[in-house]
Amino acid sequence: MIYPNEPVQLKSTFISLDSRQIYEPADTAFFAVRGLHHDGHQYVESLYHKGVREFIVEKAAWNSSLAEKAKSWNNTSIWVVNNSIETLQHIAHVHRMAFRLPVVGITGSNGKTICKEWLFKLTKSKFQVVRSPKSFNSQIGVPLSVWGIKTHHRLGIFEAGISQKDEMSRLEAIIRPEFGILTHIGEAHGKNFESEAAKLSEKLNLFRHSKKLIYRVTPNTTPVVIETMQRNNPTCELVGWSTTDTNQSIFVYWKITGKSSQLKFQKRNQSEPFISVQSQLHDEASLENLSHCLIQAHLLGMSNEELTTAVMGIKPISMRLEIKEGVRNNQLIDDSYNNDIDGLKLALPLFKRYEEKKKVLIISDFIETGIDEDTLYQQIAQLIVHQRIEKIIGIGSQIERNKHYFQHIDTYATAETFIESGDLNSLHDSIILLKGARKYAFEKIVNALETKTHCTQLEINLDALQHNLSYYRKTIGHSTKIMGMVKAQAYGAGAVEIAKILQSQGIEYLTVAYADEGVLLRNNGIYTPIMVMNPQVEEFDKMTSYALEPEIYNFSLLAAIDEYSTNQNKNIKIHIKLDTGMKRLGFEMSDIPQLMHELKQMPQLWVVSILSHLAASENPKHKAFTEQQIAQFKEASQAISDQLGYKPLRHIANSAAIQNYPEAHLDMVRLGISMYGISGNSVEKTALENVLSLKTYVSQIKNVAKGETVGYGRIGQFEEDGKIATLAIGYADGYSRALGNGQGHFEINGHICPTIGSICMDMCMVDVSTLTEIKEGDEAIVFGGKIQLAAFAKAAQTIPYEMMTSISSRVKRIYIRE
Ligand SMILES: *Cc1c(COP(=O)(O)O)cnc(C)c1O
Repeated sequence: MIYPNEPVQLKSTFISLDSRQIYEPADTAFFAVRGLHHDGHQYVESLYHKGVREFIVEKAAWNSSLAEKAKSWNNTSIWVVNNSIETLQHIAHVHRMAFRLPVVGITGSNGKTICKEWLFKLTKSKFQVVRSPKSFNSQIGVPLSVWGIKTHHRLGIFEAGISQKDEMSRLEAIIRPEFGILTHIGEAHGKNFESEAAKLSEKLNLFRHSKKLIYRVTPNTTPVVIETMQRNNPTCELVGWSTTDTNQSIFVYWKITGKSSQLKFQKRNQSEPFISVQSQLHDEASLENLSHCLIQAHLLGMSNEELTTAVMGIKPISMRLEIKEGVRNNQLIDDSYNNDIDGLKLALPLFKRYEEKKKVLIISDFIETGIDEDTLYQQIAQLIVHQRIEKIIGIGSQIERNKHYFQHIDTYATAETFIESGDLNSLHDSIILLKGARKYAFEKIVNALETKTHCTQLEINLDALQHNLSYYRKTIGHSTKIMGMVKAQAYGAGAVEIAKILQSQGIEYLTVAYADEGVLLRNNGIYTPIMVMNPQVEEFDKMTSYALEPEIYNFSLLAAIDEYSTNQNKNIKIHIKLDTGMKRLGFEMSDIPQLMHELKQMPQLWVVSILSHLAASENPKHKAFTEQQIAQFKEASQAISDQLGYKPLRHIANSAAIQNYPEAHLDMVRLGISMYGISGNSVEKTALENVLSLKTYVSQIKNVAKGETVGYGRIGQFEEDGKIATLAIGYADGYSRALGNGQGHFEINGHICPTIGSICMDMCMVDVSTLTEIKEGDEAIVFGGKIQLAAFAKAAQTIPYEMMTSISSRVKRIYIRE
């Protein structure tokens, strides 16, 4: 039957707008939608032959030849409408109105999908819940979500997102939420305020018929919420909550301790909290989202006991993103964890750290977004148009169809065809961001692009590093600058990557040991000032052309740099090193009068800073000596300053002194080992996060009988029958021979296993007799898990500094962001 004008009444259970996603043709109604580049009407005939029996088509596209054919189709209903999407919205509205269940509507700028999922997790034990799939929150996604309501459902949770004016009223008619949650709204300032306020007002249209609305009280948005709601829906109860203002409907108290938090919720005028729970979430943004959900769950009648259990099921969302060395001087950012627009928004700013490299983006189709193809790819193109991306590689058929939205794009049907094309071999000196949905097997591309090395790897957690740096910023205050010590490949962690992070965090100075280390940084986009501790006279040219500033520690260097600068007619920045007791490099106290005398005659040398180094700041036993060093330095540097007539920066504190000798902070501190979370100080030990983890894997497992021996020299002996694992790390990787014969330990599957026999060059053996669960390929953690770097160094009879810098260059460095 063809219905030209009648109201649509569907028999089918399922609705589809995508001809490729029809799994039960006989029970699916197909809505033909015209997009900019493809037209669903094209598929109507073939879908009929596949068994689809209900169609919604648009008048304007219902051409005569198709209409003619359709006359002979049996048992088929075809509704001819003006606009398929509007029809879809209308039937979703009618469907919704047939149910009486409580419905929660969620909107806001950030956190809609997270709130929807978390509220579902909190309530699913008590209710049969229907919710938006994925982040279906658009003009099409919402009706499809609501169409899923069935008679057995007892609670609906739907999210709504809008990109244009007037869209929300339509979504409101479809969701018709009794409860509302307004998630995080960015705080608008200044001239953006008017337009942001208007957008917020538009979003609030979702709650025109709601009975209760939950929102967090903030200075800018709350007046707009109150004003709009009073105008649109004055009877709605406004449930504003705050963590600072006890006069709001609900006062929320939360406290983050390490990797968990505690939350309490109390109503105004009540003395006891109505919710008090522990959670594994431990960042502000997550706790904000969780608070919305807990309050909503309470309004739905859930008890504190029910919530206490349910909240444990909510785990922090991790965005694990790996930065890897690639072949042909490429750098890879492997971010295959998520594949949606928000994830792309988060990942794109990473390009900024690599200004010197060509930018390449490899993306797959964005699947299951709930946004229609045209809009989706236009949005993606919008996001990247200003990124100055040299080349985009698109994998998948959707992106192939929509390639006209992008510049500099090549598309391939699959990861395999891209690899086989050989085009990947033309990528060099680039920073390559890979974002692909799981089914596109991007690991194959990563594999083809990644430098293959020995499989033992040093993981460097950049978030932890950032955390530690912020900790020091807070500790020392903003009037003292920080110099990041990135000498010796940043203590083995990789100078370029570490310098980039420090630079992005606004560190004021960097220090290397040799000029070449500085050149490497300059060639990789580091523009932060760099001090060189061991300048060579022959390298003054190199240093000035790369803006590297020498540390001058004796009279011959001073004379040489003076001569160089006069000959070249250049002004040069230098750093003056004083020896206050370390007895290593630096002018002695007795040199100071002569030093001042000479400096005064070298006006082309600009003394940027004066420094000295402490010999034992980590050891309280040498407190008096250290204090004397500090006092001497203050006096001498002051005298030089006075003589110069300007104030160079003064610095003497290394990591240990930052905590132990606050009076030594002066103008700048030199932060080294504690950036990596290593400290002897108990306060810092709890405040800092571990940055480095060294990991290897099990190559083979063997049973060893009583009396048999293990390894070179037959030193490893078993007194009973036992089992060993051979691991892929040896002294050539930096795993010291001192750690053989049970001195060293590895963490394997959570158990601590001692070494047995001598450490070999590329391998070593561990006793795993007590482990029942172990197999080849399992990870073995050298340090960074249960075994801390400090304990590991101690077992090898050395200090963390030496262990870190001895991890050999064949050990792959992997940079991780959680
Ligand atoms: C290496 C070094 C530092 C940093 O020492 P940490 O103990 O790692 O903080 C500071 N100053 C100088 C001169 C150094 O050589």
